[in-house]
Amino acid sequence: MTIQTVVRMGHPTLRQVAKPYPVDEIDSPAFRTLIQNMRETLHAYGGIGLAAPQIGVSYQLVVIEIENTTTRYGELDQIPFSVFVNPTISVVGEATAGYWEGCLSLPGLMGYVERPQLILVNCLDEAGNSSSVEYDGFLATVFQHEFDHLMGKLYVDRMKDLDRFSFDEEYMEYHTN
Ligand code: ZN
Repeated sequence: MTIQTVVRMGHPTLRQVAKPYPVDEIDSPAFRTLIQNMRETLHAYGGIGLAAPQIGVSYQLVVIEIENTTTRYGELDQIPFSVFVNPTISVVGEATAGYWEGCLSLPGLMGYVERPQLILVNCLDEAGNSSSVEYDGFLATVFQHEFDHLMGKLYVDRMKDLDRFSFDEEYMEYHTN
């Protein structure tokens, strides 16, 4: 297992549409190594989600894990380590919600983004089984943020108000209640 370097905004891989992961290679040794590396990297950087393009691998793979529930996003519920292979998202309902988002590829920064509040994610899990899960609230935002990485998008693309784009310290000082 190896901690990978998270590539930062400006790296061309972050702007590419990632390829679907070959279904017949799910659960192969190479797949398991890649997923373990993503997990190690997520832990090392202290994130809650990571998409493969963020370590320079242009495949449609996302991992999410909330282990330490005290985060720069406030107190969050624990989420066990989860792997999403070739996910698709459908928006369920018209409600939107806004949250401050951070990204390991834009270190030290936070930005306020509004997104659909309730989504349905269809994907394969790490054993290659089909999975279909609804997410709401902040988790819906987390998932859409990660899914955007697979489409070559970053959260800054979705910001409407750059007054609410801030370094972490200024966010903590001026933008939290
Ligand atoms: Zn990100």
